[in-house]
Amino acid sequence: MIVGVLRESFPHERRVALIPTLVTTLVTMSAEVLVEAGAGAAAGFPDAEYEAKGARVVARSDVFSRADVILMVRTPGANPTAGAKDTTALRDGQILIGLSEPLGAHNATKEVAARGASLFAMELMPRITRAQSMDALSSMAMVTGYKAALLAATELPRMFPMMMTAAGTVAPSRVFVIGAGVAGLQAIASSRRLGAKVEAYDVRPAVKEQVESLGARFVELPIENAGAEDKGGYAKAQDEAFYQKQRALLARTVAASDVVITTASVPGKRAPVLIPADAVAGMAPGSVIIDLAADRGGNCELTKPDEIVIARGVTILGPTNLPSTVPYHASQLYAKNITTFLLHLVKDGAVQFNLEDEITRETLVTHKGEVVHPRVRELMDLAPASAGRAS
Ligand code: NAD
Repeated sequence: MIVGVLRESFPHERRVALIPTLVTTLVTMSAEVLVEAGAGAAAGFPDAEYEAKGARVVARSDVFSRADVILMVRTPGANPTAGAKDTTALRDGQILIGLSEPLGAHNATKEVAARGASLFAMELMPRITRAQSMDALSSMAMVTGYKAALLAATELPRMFPMMMTAAGTVAPSRVFVIGAGVAGLQAIASSRRLGAKVEAYDVRPAVKEQVESLGARFVELPIENAGAEDKGGYAKAQDEAFYQKQRALLARTVAASDVVITTASVPGKRAPVLIPADAVAGMAPGSVIIDLAADRGGNCELTKPDEIVIARGVTILGPTNLPSTVPYHASQLYAKNITTFLLHLVKDGAVQFNLEDEITRETLVTHKGEVVHPRVRELMDLAPASAGRAS
C-alpha cells in the first residue's frame, strides 16, 4: 500500500496530515510513504525529518499518480477554491481521508464521487469510546479553545488574573464561555489557568458538572431544555422562539463580562445567534468577543469571519482556523487521529470497506462513483442508496 501526504493548499493553512514520527508506524506495517516536498515545513517538520523516518519526498503530481491512500487535513470539500484542482487529479479507486465538510460541501462531494475516489470524512467519526483516538474534531476543538483564551487575553485592555500589588489591587477579568463542548471546556480551562473568573453556559444540562469541575460557575437559564442533546452527544437545533428567549436571558451575563467566548454550534446547521447587536451595545467599551462559530455564521450578530470588528468599543473576533495558528501541536494531534483511523481501516495490507464496522460505515462518504453516506445523501436530496452500498 502506498500512502501519500500532500502539502495543504488552503490559504494560510499551516497544518500537515502526517508528522515524521508517524511515518515509522506506517512503514512498520509495510506501507510506502510519499510526502510532497515542503508538506510539513509550515508546521515545523522539514522534509529531511520525513526522509529520516523512511518516507520519500516527491512532487505533488507523484502523490496523486502513485498513492493508494492520500492523507490530508483539508480535502476539496474543506478547501473550496484551491481544492478544485485536487479533485481533477484524483484517480478511480483512490482513497482520500481528511476533513471535508461533508454536511455542507455538496458539490465537492459529488465531484470526488464522480472521479471514482473513496472519501472518508474525519468530521463524521462517531463519538464512541472506541473512536476517541481518531476524533479529529475533538483534537482540533481543544486547540481552538486554548488559542481563543490566549487571543482574548491579548486583545483585552485588562489582565486576566487578580493581582495584589503595592500599587493597588487589580480585579480579575470576567470571562463568559457560551457553549461548553470540547472547545468551550478548553477555553474555560485555559482562561482559569490565566487567572480569570469564568462563567459558562450550554444548552445541554449534562455539562454543568464538567464546567464546575474546571472551577467555573455554570450559568443556569430558566428555559426548558430537556431534549437539548442528541444520541451522539451533540446539541439539537431549537426553534427561533427558544433562541429568542435565550438571547434575552444571556444578555445580562454578557453585559457583565469582560470577555465572551462563544462556541455554540449544531452539526450541519447555521450556528444560533446568541449575541445580537444590542447585547454587544450593553458591554463595557474594551470588552472582547471571540466568536468561534464564525465559520458557521457566527454566534454574535456582528461577527465577520477572520476580521476584527469594533462596535461601540467592543472588539469582536471571528477566527475560523485557530488550529492552523498552533500548527506543530495541531498537526501532531491530527496526524495521530488520521493514522489511527488508517490503521483501523487496513487489513492484510489494504483498506477494507467493511460496513459492518460502525467507524467505517459512518465515515465513508463516497465510494465506487457514488455518494454512499445516508445522511449526506439526504442532505443532498438524493434518494436512499441501495442496500449493500459498498464492498
Ligand atoms: P459542537 O462543536 O457541535 O458544539 C459546541 C457546543 O455548543 C456544544 O456543547 C453544544 O451543546 C453547544 N450549543 C449548541 N447550541 C447551543 C445554544 N443554543 N446555546 C448554548 N450552547 C449551545 O460540539 P462538540 O464540542 O464537538 O461536542 C459536543 C459534545 O459531544 C461534547 O461535549 C461531548 O459530550 C460529546 N463528545 C463525545 C465524544 C466521545 O464520546 N468520543 C467525543 C467528543 C465529544
